[in-house]
Order: sequence, then structure tokens, then C-alpha cells
Amino acid sequence: MLDWLTDDQRALRDMAEAFARKEIEPIANQIDLDEHTPDSLVRKAAELGLYGLYTSQDYGGSGADLVSVCLVSEELAKASPAFAGMLTVQMVLCPKAVEILGTEEQKQRILPASASGERLMAYSQSEPAGAANIGSHLTKIIPDAGANDGYRLDGSKLYCTQGTAMTWLVMGKTRARDGAEGYGCVIVERDDPGFEIAPHENKLGWRGTNTGSIAFNNVRIDEDDILGDLLKGGFSHRAANHANLLAHVATSIGCAQGLFDKTIEYVKDRTLYGKAMSELQPLGYWLAECHSKITACRALLYDTVRQFEAGTVSPEAGNICKAFIGETCFDVCVKLVQMWGGSGIMNSTGVNRYMRDARAKCVAEGATEMHYAIIANQLLHGQPTLVPSNIVKAASA
Ligand SMILES: Cc1cc2nc3c(=O)[nH]c(=O)nc-3n(C[C@H](O)[C@H](O)[C@H](O)COP(=O)(O)OP(=O)(O)OC[C@H]3O[C@@H](n4cnc5c(N)ncnc54)[C@H](O)[C@@H]3O)c2cc1C
Repeated sequence: MLDWLTDDQRALRDMAEAFARKEIEPIANQIDLDEHTPDSLVRKAAELGLYGLYTSQDYGGSGADLVSVCLVSEELAKASPAFAGMLTVQMVLCPKAVEILGTEEQKQRILPASASGERLMAYSQSEPAGAANIGSHLTKIIPDAGANDGYRLDGSKLYCTQGTAMTWLVMGKTRARDGAEGYGCVIVERDDPGFEIAPHENKLGWRGTNTGSIAFNNVRIDEDDILGDLLKGGFSHRAANHANLLAHVATSIGCAQGLFDKTIEYVKDRTLYGKAMSELQPLGYWLAECHSKITACRALLYDTVRQFEAGTVSPEAGNICKAFIGETCFDVCVKLVQMWGGSGIMNSTGVNRYMRDARAKCVAEGATEMHYAIIANQLLHGQPTLVPSNIVKAASA
């Protein structure tokens, strides 16, 4: 499968596989138990160029295509789905949003440092009213009443995957000085006065990422920290969201494949009742079923990624991949964990973290049902979004 890959794509995949084996696999379970990714791993990934993989060469990245990004994400996720998940936000979503929306000054200021791993970024949209329910979001970016220019940011956000982020892309409802309203995106720095980051949450899966709430109390936003059009920026970087969704899905596949690879070795080595465990019903059948499902998911993902690269992808294709592949990979992980018996339940073996990470992936980047709701909207109303129509109208004006 994937026999159409170019030599460069194969080389990148091999490099990621070797890196994952040498640098991630030995500490992957500790990352999960400690709920912490060591800085040394971030540094090594940065030295390898992973943070700049999808950033264009003009801004210090390697300008790799999305197929390569997905191959790399999948390989890293085989060892640590949590680390790979955090990386897609910092390798794909944030830099691509800056490339799409940013002025030349913003790109020069942010992207080379992001590509080298010195300036990690985070993306903040979710709010208590429901992550995707942006019509009800309360975070506001309004003109600074005490100055002739600039804005003030107020509000709070949930579930932000922070890593060690220095620069934050924050979405919120915007108001221009002439009273026009929209949904924008602003750049906030970690040490900006009024920006507070709460201690991170203890969570089920994706434990190597520190995810938590943030708050903005009258944070000053200079004109050059508005990313894109004040009234549209929060919504008009869909290509970055779509690319990130596909890279995120690649980590779901890597998650299932990583556990599958470990499980098949375990099943081959272990004898029960005097025969190879794989000969017990239904274990051999389950292995075949899991392998078939992972293979089918991979075929769907890379077909979609190639269409994305060719500019022929349908608007809801990422939603289909996210919902269907995410849930299928979770089901696969549940079955694989069962094959380990008691050792699959013990955290020390590093087996069940795959299942927990696979579950977290079905919520992060949009819950499965939200993606199915978008697909249904496209099927029934020709509108591949749940975003309120006034915001869609503003973004396409
Ligand atoms: C590990 C992790 C990391 C995250 N990182 C980030 C981040 O970096 N930045 C960020 O902004 N957000 C982040 N999130 C938030 C994530 O995007 C949201 O949790 C997700 O989109 C679900 O939104 P919600 O939690 O508000 O659930 P809700 O919107 O309250 O939904 C609850 C449930 O209702 C159902 N549902 C929701 N919408 C619909 C619908 N339209 N139709 C039918 N059923 C529906 C689903 O079953 C869903 O699980 C992260 C979440 C997790 C778990």
C-alpha cells in the first residue's frame, strides 16, 4: 500500500520511524504516566526539523507536502499518540494559519522561530458554550476605548493544548471602530499583561500534552497583532484547519497501528493452553479484523490527502476522515487491549494508553458527532459548516 510515495516521502517516513524508535518509544509510557513531555524531546524534534516541516521554505521551514506530514505524524504516533497529537498543532495548524492570514511582518516575526522550535504556538478557540458553537462564544476583541488605535481582548477559553507555547492564536468575536462585527483571530504572547494560564487538567488520554483553561483580562492587542482581517480572520483559515484535521487523523491511524504492532508480537510469543495464543478463537480473527480496518482507514486518509494537495478535495472530506477513522481506530484499540488480558489493564505496560489516546482523539479537533453534523449539513443544505450564517457571510464577503 502507498506504493505511489516518492523517494523523498519515503525518506521522511523512515527518518520519523527511526526517531520514534530511538527517542520516543523508550520514554513514551513515562510521558503518559507523568503527564509531561520532557523539554529534551521537544528540542530533539526541533533539531530534526519537525516543527518546521509544513512551513514554507521562505519562512525557515522545509515546505514538505501534507502527505509527508501525515506519514511523519503516523510514525510518531506509533510510539506516542500524545506527543504526535501535540506536534500537529504546532507543526501544521498554527504556522499554516499564520501563513494564510499573516502580513509579511507577522510571518517574518513568527514563522522562522516557530519552524526552529524556539517559538512554539497554541491555538485557542474552545469555550464553555461548546467548542464549535462559536455563535455563542463570549470572548471579545473590541476597540481600546482608552487609545486611538488597538483593541482589548476579554474572555476565557477551555481545553487549550499548550505544550510550552509562547505564542497563542486566539479566536473571538470582533468589533471594528465603525461598529461592524465579525469573528477574528489575534496573536497573544505568553507574558502579555492580563493573560492567565491555569494549571493544566489531569486527563484520560493525550496525557503528554498539557491542556487547560486560559483567561484574558483586558489584554491589549496592538494593530499588528490582528491576524488577517479583523472581522474574518477567525474563520478564513479553513485550509489550515483542514490540513490539521488530516494530520490529526494520521495520528489516530498511527495510534492503532502502534498498538497493533505490539499486540501481534505479544500474541505470537504467548502460549495459552499449550498452543499459540493467536490460534485461540476469536483472537486470530480479531487480528485480521483490526489489520483490515487500519488498512482501510489508511487508504481513505491518503486518498483524501492527495485530493487535498491537488485542490480537488470536497469540503466535508476532512470531517468524514476525522469522524470515521477516529472512531474506527478507537474500536481497534479497544479490541487490541482486550487481547492483552490483565496486562492490558495495568498502566505500567504502556498498552492501554493507546486506547485512552484514541478516545481523546475522537473529541479533540471536534467531537465525532459534530463532524457528522457538518457532513449532514453538507448533504442536506450544501453547507459544510455549523458556523452561524452571519459569520460565513462576513468571511466570504
Ligand atoms: C485533549 C484535548 C485537546 C484539545 N485541544 C484544544 C486546543 O488546543 N484548542 C482548542 O480550542 N480546543 C481544544 N480542545 C477542545 C476540543 O476541540 C473540544 O473539546 C471538542 O471540539 C468538543 O467540544 P466540547 O468539549 O465543547 O463539547 P460540546 O460541544 O459540549 O459537545 C458535547 C458532546 O455533544 C455532542 N455534540 C457536539 N456538537 C454536536 C453537534 N453539532 N451535533 C450533534 N452532537 C454534537 C458530542 O457527542 C460531544 O462530545 C481539546 C480537547 C481535548 C479533549
